[in-house]
Amino acid sequence: MKAKMVKKIWKIVSILILLVGGLTNSLFSEEANLFTNPGFEVDENKNGIPDGWNLMKVDNKPGDNFDAEIHMSDVAHSGKRSLYVKGKSARGYGSVHQSPIYLVPNSTNKEEKIGKPSFFYPHGTANWKIYTSKHYIFHYPPNSTRAKDMGQYLASYAGLRDETFEKSVSFLNINFKDRIDFFLYNSDEHGKQVTGRNLGFVKYNIPNHIYEIHEKPNQSPGHETAHILYTSFGTVTHSSLIGEGFAVYMNWKCGDNTFKGRLRRSVGSEEFKTLSLRDFEKNFRSFHCDFSYPLAGSFVGFLIEEGGLDRFKTFIKQTHPFEISIRQVYCRIEKRGIHYTTIEDIEKNWKNYIISHINEGVYKFSR
Ligand SMILES: [Zn+2]
Repeated sequence: MKAKMVKKIWKIVSILILLVGGLTNSLFSEEANLFTNPGFEVDENKNGIPDGWNLMKVDNKPGDNFDAEIHMSDVAHSGKRSLYVKGKSARGYGSVHQSPIYLVPNSTNKEEKIGKPSFFYPHGTANWKIYTSKHYIFHYPPNSTRAKDMGQYLASYAGLRDETFEKSVSFLNINFKDRIDFFLYNSDEHGKQVTGRNLGFVKYNIPNHIYEIHEKPNQSPGHETAHILYTSFGTVTHSSLIGEGFAVYMNWKCGDNTFKGRLRRSVGSEEFKTLSLRDFEKNFRSFHCDFSYPLAGSFVGFLIEEGGLDRFKTFIKQTHPFEISIRQVYCRIEKRGIHYTTIEDIEKNWKNYIISHINEGVYKFSR
């Protein structure tokens, strides 16, 4: 009786295997290759770059100015020729890519195929799994320890991030079409092993539409996305005060209360009373982040809410030193009787603004 039952189970299992096998085979045979010009053979405009492919060049470290070229070679393994990427100067990452294709659920095989490998850490994440949401491509290790049920976890994790993304682009009134590659590490240490950096950073290559988020587990959902969206304003200032302030302010605008308790403490501190805006901007990274981040958020909030979003967009595109840029864009604004004349004047108005608005709207302390 026992042997009979085992036999029966085996029969069912083998039918299932046959079914799955049949299904997979038929899927593959009907599926066209999702890449344009997959064999690199076609180059109709004869520019030496196979049609449909783009060259990606990314610096090893900022300012490297890495350069590379694509070459067609007559060496062929199959077909008529092959392709190689040659580095020309400095060190960096060179590669060819095609933009990812938007896919719908129940096309897992296709998603796995078109998922871009991690551009910046190709060796660490090449075998990672992929989950595509509306605005992100999530990459996670096959043995991810994030959750028992990764499917369920990813659906809610991605849902919250998609929602935050949409709130942000609608507030900023921008069109951001590219999907962001989003890496889910098991822990801070795991992230450091793979990337060589402390987690909580973004990487991007705008001409090639490559955007990556390397978030800390449990980081507030919109912060790194805000850093990515910031780049869509064009060439933007590298001021950390403005960049971090923008990300923190966007957290608040999207309903995330991160840093709010710390904002209240920072505003009430002696250090804030004597803080010079000039010094704060110049030495931003030398202040403790519990002090600097919420205050930066309040400063960007002050600029956007008092001067308007368009003026802020103009301001961040200024390539002059901070003080010159801010004076060019914000001095001589007349709003609610405010006339800014100097950076000290802006500083005084920001401090008064945040003290008087700390119990209101976006600055309101949740408890
Ligand atoms: Zn940040």
